[in-house]
Amino acid sequence: MPVRELFANFASDFQSLNIIHIIQFRNIVLAAAAAAALHAGASGRAAAVAGVRIDDSFWSPKMEVRNDVTIPDVLRKFEGRHTAEPEEALVKLYRLLKDEPELKSRPGMDVDERRYFDLVTFWIENRGRHCGYPHWLGWGNPRSEQWIRESGYSDASFGSHSRPSWGDYAQDSIPVFEQTTIEGHAVRDTLLGTGIATAALENRDPRYIAAARRLWDNMTGRRMFVTGGVGAIHEDEKFGPDYYLPSGAYLETCAAIGAAFFSQRMHELTGEGKYIDELERVLYNSLLTAVSLKGDNYTYQNPLNADGHNRWEWHGCPCCPPMFLKITSEIPHYIYATRDDALYVNLFIGNDADLNVAGHPVKVSQHTAYPYDGEVEISVDPQTAAKFAVKVRIPGWARGVENPDGLYTSDLSGAPVLKVNGKAV
Ligand SMILES: [Zn+2]
Repeated sequence: MPVRELFANFASDFQSLNIIHIIQFRNIVLAAAAAAALHAGASGRAAAVAGVRIDDSFWSPKMEVRNDVTIPDVLRKFEGRHTAEPEEALVKLYRLLKDEPELKSRPGMDVDERRYFDLVTFWIENRGRHCGYPHWLGWGNPRSEQWIRESGYSDASFGSHSRPSWGDYAQDSIPVFEQTTIEGHAVRDTLLGTGIATAALENRDPRYIAAARRLWDNMTGRRMFVTGGVGAIHEDEKFGPDYYLPSGAYLETCAAIGAAFFSQRMHELTGEGKYIDELERVLYNSLLTAVSLKGDNYTYQNPLNADGHNRWEWHGCPCCPPMFLKITSEIPHYIYATRDDALYVNLFIGNDADLNVAGHPVKVSQHTAYPYDGEVEISVDPQTAAKFAVKVRIPGWARGVENPDGLYTSDLSGAPVLKVNGKAV
């Protein structure tokens, strides 16, 4: 398919979303291959990972060319218009290749990973830099799309910004660093926030950090439902205005998952527990409810009033299942975090983990029936004598802080009790 046709339907195409899933799938496989090679001391084009042999064709030059050349050069053309937000996926690919340079020794992988990161910052910083037309809200979608098709934006008088505005829908009305509210398509914006925060982890640019904080604060403090759902309005699957929280709201499953990704990444950026509170809200109230117990049906919309809404076997817009798979596959990485000489215990899920804390191998385990029972037993077992901090998240709801901005309150009685080796502290 010619490139022009491939990305011609900016309003609802899914090619870019598919590309992002492919990149993220490839990130996972590349990371697994790196881990397997490290573990086995192996090298070569195929790696046995968890009993799965990756076929040589996966590393074929054709695939690598698409990854290195075609994708960035194509995606660069459409600036703020992409259907999905690929920033996070490309930052992860960048970091993976930077951290595991031996991956670049594979045939066809002679890439300069910096190009991926540069492309991400290009996308983020070029939002809102356009010719000023069409006026999506005033003109409506059909007239705006017609205006773009007729290439009115190529008028030389528009100067260097000779591209159309893709509007609030694509977070393209104004530059990202000037955006104070989270607007437009909820999946796009939550994933954009995730991408900004992920990029900030790398460049520590205060503009990125401030923008991510502003968007997250507006989302959770004024536009998030008590279930963690976001995107109140059916039309354009978008955020509503502040405090617009009706019981029949749209609330796409993907959007809640995007909000969860955003919250987790904000915690990685800041170390603050409130971000995990909001991740947890989504996990238990939007994610688990989105899939049937048998795992063969799922919700697309999640209104608080579910009368008349059933789970789907399939949906003509099949975005939610891969997002569900992405987050469930990442949950093991969300339970703990480490930074400097501290171990963060973020989520309370029964597990056994082998971690590295400040250079020390540490076995950590949890026994709990949370959330059915609030008791959590955490064992921390360094393999050699070590000194480091263990930071256990005390959920906001357990401290009477249901939401960081007071959007929700609860009247729980009782206070959390923390014991170390059986003694209350
Ligand atoms: Zn979806």
